[in-house]
Amino acid sequence: MPDYPTDPDCLFCKIVAGEIPCHKLYEDDRVLSFLDIGPLSAGHALVIPKGHYETIDRVPAEDAAAMFRIVPALSRAIMRAAGASAWNLLQNNGEAAGQAVGHVHLHIIPRPAGSSRDAPIEGNGLPFNWPTGEIDHKKAGGLAETIRQYV
Ligand code: 5GP
Ligand code: ZN
Repeated sequence: MPDYPTDPDCLFCKIVAGEIPCHKLYEDDRVLSFLDIGPLSAGHALVIPKGHYETIDRVPAEDAAAMFRIVPALSRAIMRAAGASAWNLLQNNGEAAGQAVGHVHLHIIPRPAGSSRDAPIEGNGLPFNWPTGEIDHKKAGGLAETIRQYV
């Protein structure tokens, strides 16, 4: 069992510790998955590391790998149970990005038949016909070069 940091005031740490109940879907020594209490559709699930890390950029690579390792099998199981054939993987980092719980998590959100890119799921939301811009190729080369240096 790896050692991981915890925050006694954190909601998801309390779920990991069993102090707050959840509808558990999967557990291993690094990762826990359970149903979201405010689902966008039936089967909406969260995948969290057992360690308390606020955003994905702070998660040790081993724990990030453990979170993503379970996504294919878990999403297949959720789709099968929910009768969906499409789904979104959503991940919010920081308040400005819409993160409400400060313990990193992946959302697995089944899209039932009839939902689409701009149609809400069963009236619950998540239309995401986001307004895209156009890349500025002159600036993009320099930006990509800077990012490559930082990785
Ligand atoms: P965020 O906006 O931070 O990406 O998403 C947080 C998610 O956690 C929300 O979808 C919300 O419904 C879910 N959530 C908040 N509190 C609880 C809880 O006590 N139990 C469960 N299972 N989910 C929770
Ligand atoms: Zn936590």
